[in-house]
Amino acid sequence: MRIFIFIFISFLFLSTACKNTEKTSNQPAEKPNKPAFSPYIQPSGIKRQWAQSATAYDVKKILPPANVSGKVKNIIFLIGDGMGLTQIYAAMTANKGKLNIENCTYTGLIKTYASDAYITDSAAGATAFACGTKTYNGAIGVDAQGNPVKTILEIAEEKGLATGMVATSSITHATPASFIAHQKSRKMEEEIAADFLNTDIDVFIGGGKQFFEHSVGDKNLLIDLKNKGYQVVDNLKDITAVTKGKLAGFTAEVQNPKMSEGRGDMLSQSTKTAINILKQNPNGFFLMVEGSQIDWGGHDNNPQYVIDEALDFDKVIGEVLEFAAKDGETLVVITADHETGGLTLLGGNISEGKVESAFSTGGHSAVMVPVYSFGVQADKFTGIYENTAIYDKMMSILGFKK
Ligand code: MG
Ligand code: ZN
Repeated sequence: MRIFIFIFISFLFLSTACKNTEKTSNQPAEKPNKPAFSPYIQPSGIKRQWAQSATAYDVKKILPPANVSGKVKNIIFLIGDGMGLTQIYAAMTANKGKLNIENCTYTGLIKTYASDAYITDSAAGATAFACGTKTYNGAIGVDAQGNPVKTILEIAEEKGLATGMVATSSITHATPASFIAHQKSRKMEEEIAADFLNTDIDVFIGGGKQFFEHSVGDKNLLIDLKNKGYQVVDNLKDITAVTKGKLAGFTAEVQNPKMSEGRGDMLSQSTKTAINILKQNPNGFFLMVEGSQIDWGGHDNNPQYVIDEALDFDKVIGEVLEFAAKDGETLVVITADHETGGLTLLGGNISEGKVESAFSTGGHSAVMVPVYSFGVQADKFTGIYENTAIYDKMMSILGFKK
């Protein structure tokens, strides 16, 4: 008897769920008098949203250099903030089933938890990549006890490589900050700006001019940067005109606009400019590029924002892979610090480039995130490992010791 009641209740629930989704789902409507298996039962209160890309772009087949075991001269490390597997597949669907990232020949998965939390923030996540240490949420280039830890970018600079960073957030925001600064809290953006002067980083491009112009004690670090030999410029046209030397490029007072607000190809132009300058160093270079706002789309529970930002990031990935393929001595590693939004994909149509999704949180989630690699030594990034192992692998590939 109990089993019949259960089946009856399940039938009622399924038929309600189907009715609720009929308007938005493009799956064929189920016959009303025949309860079919539903792969997804909609919990109450979940918001399903459709999103799509305005235009799909072409994805080229990019072949990695033949010799994967060759020597690595340059590392380009790309971080899609908040870019989990669902963000990537949503973007891939919106681009009609293809992305440049698919050219990566090796994939892995990383565990992203922080030293003090199951779910990491971007500061602890980036510090794990930059310093090889699990730390507490909010920590910038310091360990779990708050002690500064030298970053891979600082070590690369000391070893004579050229170094650079590009981001679509302020350059003092948690992710890029963790590669160059040592502060107890990500909120200390004026102190983080001051830490840029403690290194010899060659190129940095992003928002956050205000934190340099009015740093700690209202000190104007733009003057200090000029005195240190930087070309300090504050618009994309002047940034892309720089072809050598040291460059501090500011694209916004604080944060850059979203793609939907007209950011255009700022990330692509900035990355190209950085590579063109850095590749002139005969010892090689280390460049970190961040698609910062994929995360912000997740926090906003806005799938269109997520997709627009992920596609912008993927276009840059395509250009970076083309450089690495041609160069033959470059390793490209692409990953995320964590997933944002608990994004799930509930419907879609690849040929129409449409995807239906829902979020389960306004924050980050704990799930492992993918790692993609391309070029020389790319095979070292397969498997399941800690986020700190990204640092260990890059350090060993460059022949550096802690
Ligand atoms: Mg970030
Ligand atoms: Zn976030």
